[in-house]
Amino acid sequence: MDITLPTGQTLTPRKIVCIGRNYAAHARELGNEVPEAPVVFLKPSTALVGDGGTIVLPPQTQDVHHEVELVAVIGRAGKNIPEAEALGHVAAYAVGLDMTARDLQSELKKKGLPWTLAKGFDTFAPLGPLTPAADVPDPDQLEVTLRVNGEVRQQGATAAMLHSVAALVAYCSTIFTLEPGDLLYTGTPEGVAAVQDGDVLEAQISSLAPLRVTVRREA
Ligand code: MN
Repeated sequence: MDITLPTGQTLTPRKIVCIGRNYAAHARELGNEVPEAPVVFLKPSTALVGDGGTIVLPPQTQDVHHEVELVAVIGRAGKNIPEAEALGHVAAYAVGLDMTARDLQSELKKKGLPWTLAKGFDTFAPLGPLTPAADVPDPDQLEVTLRVNGEVRQQGATAAMLHSVAALVAYCSTIFTLEPGDLLYTGTPEGVAAVQDGDVLEAQISSLAPLRVTVRREA
C-alpha cells in the first residue's frame, strides 16, 4: 500500500516500527510487567490496509485482537535523532490498528520467541488517512477511541503513554535509520479484545482523519 506524505511524495512504507506495552494499564491487562525501555517490534509493509479496507482473519488463529494506536509517519530521514528534534522528523499522524493473533502471541511469549507470526499477517496493520503534523499541535495530548459495531471498546489518551512520541522516535532512531514513509505505531491503551467475522471497527483519535475497517474470516 502506498501513502502520500503532506509534501506530495507518494511511497510504499519500508518499515513499520511498533511499540508494545506503552500504556501501563494495557501492559497490566495482559499480565505483563511495565517495561523501562520501549518494547520494539516490526511488521512487514504487506500488513498494511487502508481506510475502508478489510481485515482478513487467517485460518492459523482463532483469537485476533484489536489494538488502536496513534501512528507517527516519518517525513525526514534520521539516525540518532535527539529527542528535542524528533517531532521535526514526523510529517503526519494517522489512526492505526495493530491487529494481533493473541493465541499465537501467547504461545510465542511462553517459548521466548519473537512475535512476528502473531503480528505480521496480511491486513494486520490498518492505517487511516494521513493528517499533516502541522495540524496536530501536541501528539501527546490526543483522545483515542475504538468502536466495534458502534460500541466503545477502547478509550484512552496519549497523555498516558509511558514514552512520548518524541522519545519513541529518538529511541527507535538509535537502532534503525528512520526513512521517509516509515510508520511508528505507538502502542495501545487498555480494552483490547477479540474481533469476529463481520465486525465493523471505527477508530478515532481527536481531530485526526478516522479509520473504518471491516473484519472478514478467510474462507
Ligand atoms: Mn500494539
